[in-house]
Amino acid sequence: MGWVRFAPSPTGLLHVGNARAALLNALYARRYGAQFLLRIDDTDRARSDAAFVEALKADLTWMGLSWERLVFQSERLERYAQAAECLRATGRLYPCYETPEELALQRKTLQTQGKPPIYNRRALALSEDERRALESQGRPAHWRFRLHENPVCWNDGIYGKKVFEGAYASDPVLIRADGVPVYTLASVVDDWELGITQVIRGADHLANTAVQLQILEALDPKAPSALSWAHYPLFRMRSGEELSKRTGSMSLQSLREEGIHPLALCSFLAKLGTSEALAPHASLEDLAAGFALSNMSLAEAQFDPDDLRRLNRHLWPILPVASVASDIPPSDFPFSADFWKAIRGNIETLQDVGYWQRVCYGLLPPGADEEPAFREACLLCTQRAPEAIGEVSAWQAFVQDLSQKTGRKGRALFHPLRLLLTGRDTGPELWVLVALMGRERMLQRLAR
Ligand code: GLU
Repeated sequence: MGWVRFAPSPTGLLHVGNARAALLNALYARRYGAQFLLRIDDTDRARSDAAFVEALKADLTWMGLSWERLVFQSERLERYAQAAECLRATGRLYPCYETPEELALQRKTLQTQGKPPIYNRRALALSEDERRALESQGRPAHWRFRLHENPVCWNDGIYGKKVFEGAYASDPVLIRADGVPVYTLASVVDDWELGITQVIRGADHLANTAVQLQILEALDPKAPSALSWAHYPLFRMRSGEELSKRTGSMSLQSLREEGIHPLALCSFLAKLGTSEALAPHASLEDLAAGFALSNMSLAEAQFDPDDLRRLNRHLWPILPVASVASDIPPSDFPFSADFWKAIRGNIETLQDVGYWQRVCYGLLPPGADEEPAFREACLLCTQRAPEAIGEVSAWQAFVQDLSQKTGRKGRALFHPLRLLLTGRDTGPELWVLVALMGRERMLQRLAR
């Protein structure tokens, strides 16, 4: 039991990196019977957009994920204010007045001295009068959390024992000068109050965890023991391209438009960064059954979109026909189990289904008639073939007849025949297509 959460900020379209965070949490939930909280991290009102909330819900639904609870951080500001009050009361949250320019200058000075750019805590030494003077000059306070210097450790579900020694970071700002709580505070207050038991997120949050553990402990000394943490190493795009919500690169929407099936994406993302082989899975249950945090490796993984496309191709043969039937682009042509079985090994995406439907049941634009004599021979042999030309013995007889008539065999016979009948030089087994197409359509096509 327990809860996991996926916490996107609605500032752009979900990309494959976000999708991986959602999926790993969802698989964990299915595997261990936890519940899934969708938390919208929208405290930054200027960058958050309700349209992105709708888009991300649609993306998660497309992936086959669902949530037991939906929470907006913008509706919990009161709670963060209360937590801040509590930290103020114990002296862990203190007001600071430096401007961004002053802070940048301080960092630069430290760097030129070869020191880490850690905040100097000068604001802690301000007297009450000095603070009042600054405020009367119109300088609003931002609030920093005072870190203690004891080592922070936790047993990470993926990294194992993690230790952050003291004085490793600046006291983080938890409340901005405009009064808005930042992610670091809001997130940990939510994890604590909403009963999250397992946090699974990228290794880019390791340092946040060290800080958030301190905040948690300051809020309630018992709180840290209720939460487990797991951080997975991020992946790099093979192309070197950066994932960006803003540019929409590698967004779920673009993959969907490209014809990637959600189960191909989930099968791919579930194994990315593990030592397990990539293989298509026909359901999330199936993926969840093999899920374990301990499968994740600590090496940085590489995301190659071509691997995803290959997995997509390998998915079709294992999908039940009924689930495909509801996903294919609408068409007036029939879609049967036999038809699907014939073509499923030869398509990249479901967009390709329409082409093979036209081959089997419709009209094809006439291709170049490069070998009129060969076409004539095919026409003649088809005319003499029985109605059920696609049945094994009839097909063999037809091929033999055509071979005798043209003096060709093997590829020299099948390749031009395939081109005449399907308009392509590769595809499903020809006799299987012919069985679906029937002799009449074959005649029409050969007659041009
Ligand atoms: N909104 C945060 C992000 O997208 C959530 C991180 C977390 O899982 O705590 O990075």
